[in-house]
Amino acid sequence: MQVIRCVMHRDCFGNIDGRCICLKDNRFKKKACPFYKDKKQFDEERRASEARLIDIDRRDLIEEYSGRNVYAQK
Ligand code: SF4
Repeated sequence: MQVIRCVMHRDCFGNIDGRCICLKDNRFKKKACPFYKDKKQFDEERRASEARLIDIDRRDLIEEYSGRNVYAQK
């Protein structure tokens, strides 16, 4: 598997030790990565998404994509 280096945004949610764990290619023709989010922004958006999925009774999607058992939190 190819390693995608990202040294410009070490504070990105997808950056672990200077490597992007999200993308297969991060060459954006000298433009900034459009997927960049710092970890705080990522956590806030994830919490909002999970709250919305709980509101519409789709906890199954949280489990499917995050691997967390949210039925136990009822
Ligand atoms: S999503 Fe973009 S900014 Fe974040 S680690 Fe990957 S390449 Fe870097």
